[in-house]
Amino acid sequence: MAEPNLKIGKVVKTTRKTYLVNIGGKEYICSVRGKLAGNGDAAGSVKVGDDVRVQVISEGEGVIEEILPRRSLLSRSVEGKAYRQHIIATNIDQILIIMSTRFPAFKSGLLDRYLIIAEKNHLKAVICINKIDLSSVAEFEEYRQWYPRLGYPLFFTSALTGEGLNELKSVLREKVSVLVGHSGVGKSSLLKKIEPGLDLKVASVSEKTSKGRHATSVVQLFPLSFGGFVIDTPGVRELGLWEVYRDELKEYFREFIEYAPDCQFNDCRHLQEPGCAVKRAVEEGKIFPERYRNYQNIYLSLRTAPYELIKFRGDSGR
Ligand code: GDP
Ligand code: ZN
Repeated sequence: MAEPNLKIGKVVKTTRKTYLVNIGGKEYICSVRGKLAGNGDAAGSVKVGDDVRVQVISEGEGVIEEILPRRSLLSRSVEGKAYRQHIIATNIDQILIIMSTRFPAFKSGLLDRYLIIAEKNHLKAVICINKIDLSSVAEFEEYRQWYPRLGYPLFFTSALTGEGLNELKSVLREKVSVLVGHSGVGKSSLLKKIEPGLDLKVASVSEKTSKGRHATSVVQLFPLSFGGFVIDTPGVRELGLWEVYRDELKEYFREFIEYAPDCQFNDCRHLQEPGCAVKRAVEEGKIFPERYRNYQNIYLSLRTAPYELIKFRGDSGR
């Protein structure tokens, strides 16, 4: 039954009509079997990250016959249509959050925003603090204690001195990782150090939409010679928090979950409510106070969910 020229590969890039598929380290330009094509954003269409079965036609060419089951999705809502999902990439194993000690300065509030994105997408997150040559591990002791305890591994690197690069490699090895982090933290420097041949220039090409706005950036998987792939996102804006709404925020702070059932009100937002078990846990030192403060700040920065506004208008009889 198995045809000899059917091979399994990974989609590393898509354009309007063609798909670049990595099969055993070699790239094939592929088209898609009619029944799979033309679905726009529907789950049925081929996405970057998909593992696919390809009929190889010639050296470097093939036809995608089948999308294998997806393990995960990184998605966002389509602007203006809150309930339409736009899949950015599939089968992602982890988000690697890159921060720096200085230039730009480390801010746990920013780190927590990235962690929220990971939680919302049900993705594992790993934290890398780069430019450790400009600081000391001792200065970050608090974070080194708290974040791994929450299930977010944390390690330090320096693209300058090479410190931590082996750890970085072992984190990335055989995984598909999305790299996030502010511009200037050292993402390209780190990648260049561990993969000197990598050409990331194509990563930030943007495409014009029908509305004349630059909306979609090309998402591409870069193969690592030691196994695995990375997606380097051009900036924070792409993976912004604009589609996270106030009332869902508390679900993304994993350490709140165990205390929330003990709050006096079962819809407690863990802000000013009396009898809040989360706030009590903060006071008792069971929750990292800095993360709780970040929660308060992020909450204030977010909007209320649109459906609630609709409900409110409905309730007030307009
Ligand atoms: P990206 O925007 O995240 O890709 O950051 P870049 O890789 O372009 O790095 C931004 C700047 O930080 C450059 O001037 C790098 O030379 C510098 N840089 C990157 N990594 C390190 C590091 O570990 N230590 C120090 N001291 N500088 C670094
Ligand atoms: Zn509470």
